[in-house]
Amino acid sequence: MEDIVSLCKRRGFIYQGSEIYGGLAGTWDYGPLGVEMKNNVKNLWWRMFVQDRDDMCGVDAAILMNPKVWESSGHVGGFSDPLVECKKCKRRFRADQVGQSCPECDGAFGEVRQFNMMFKTHVGATEDEASVSYLRPETAGGIFANFKNIVDSFHPKLPFGIAQIGKAFRNEIAPRDFIFRAREFEQMEIEYFVRPGEWEAAFEAWREAVHAFNDAVGIPRDSVHELEVADGDRAHYSKRTIDFEFDFPFGRKELYGLAYRTDFDLSAHEQGSGSTLRIVDEEGKEPIVPHVIEPSFGVDRTVLAILSSAYTEDELGGEKRTYLKLNKAVAPIKAAVFPLLKNKPELVAKARAVYVALKKEVPQVMWDDNGNIGKRYRRQDEIGTPYCITVDFDTLGEKPELADTVTIRDRDTGEQQRIAVADIPPILRS
Ligand code: ATP
Repeated sequence: MEDIVSLCKRRGFIYQGSEIYGGLAGTWDYGPLGVEMKNNVKNLWWRMFVQDRDDMCGVDAAILMNPKVWESSGHVGGFSDPLVECKKCKRRFRADQVGQSCPECDGAFGEVRQFNMMFKTHVGATEDEASVSYLRPETAGGIFANFKNIVDSFHPKLPFGIAQIGKAFRNEIAPRDFIFRAREFEQMEIEYFVRPGEWEAAFEAWREAVHAFNDAVGIPRDSVHELEVADGDRAHYSKRTIDFEFDFPFGRKELYGLAYRTDFDLSAHEQGSGSTLRIVDEEGKEPIVPHVIEPSFGVDRTVLAILSSAYTEDELGGEKRTYLKLNKAVAPIKAAVFPLLKNKPELVAKARAVYVALKKEVPQVMWDDNGNIGKRYRRQDEIGTPYCITVDFDTLGEKPELADTVTIRDRDTGEQQRIAVADIPPILRS
């Protein structure tokens, strides 16, 4: 795990939040490569679950919502973790994550109390109880609050779903394990509305869709395990929940959740808001409150699962190397373009021209002319760039039949091929 964290910092994927001020626990900043990779993950998800389907639509709701949303959803009353405080050193822990005494000083714990994880804030200039609002603890609230809008403007037929990607905030008692448990993170959530009698088939379809998404981002199936959440451990309104757990370097932990939530949310918001949150399913019949299947994906946990799956140490050409065996779709940089030699202006000019032309076709292409070729390969391998493209004297037409060809090196095998510049874009896109 330390190796991954240090690679992420060194190479500009992920930094500690507010680092120059000593950090802020549970916050992380994505650097230039991290943000490209994270955007790739979100774009793939959006493409797969919204754009490529005709039963889904997207929203981007405000993070600050009327606090009644969170009263109706049960978060004000019950979104809490058990907290214990050490009587001796005053450190606080999550009661379900520690033993009987303080792991730091062996002191005795006080009473377990419930700690609400929502961040409170005030909306407007007065700081009183009436102005209290919360940073959303999940994106789902913004979906349910827009159910009526979507139904009124688009008149969808059941089954249909609404998706949202965005930030969520939880004042975790013990943020830990890098971006796995943060206080500010991102979620990709879907509320899929179904007829009450049809939830089982939809649940199965979403279960397979979760695995298909993992395939698309390069999280191997054999490192993801389904945990059927038992009756007593499920939320009272959920009739079935599966946690998808991943073998993280620090143990097997939740990556995503999939829950059948009955009509709990819409009914609760109907009651809380006084609005009708129903849909006419059959002409001439009374509107019904649909039931809902909720697949919930953490963006940051996806990024961490991808990085942990991709981190590889091996030997290439007799030399040890560290590299990220990233799936092309999520790699922050698809190819790096180099001139063979930095001190030959005609090579540099041609390489620049190749780079500019390629970048127009595939934006995630990078220029690199630092150090020798071997060093450039190592650097690109370390950030998971699938291809390195070298412009040499043959590209310039030293052998006329090879003019406008380059060498393209494969990250995983180190093998190189000669290829026409014009043939590169489809390889980078595929
Ligand atoms: P955990 O049991 O690990 O706290 P949870 O069951 O509370 O997770 P959900 O409320 O189901 O999580 O949230 C849906 C998804 O959001 C999770 O599967 C995870 O991917 C992501 N997620 C939840 N909490 C965090 C967090 N603190 N940091 C990063 N991602 C998170």
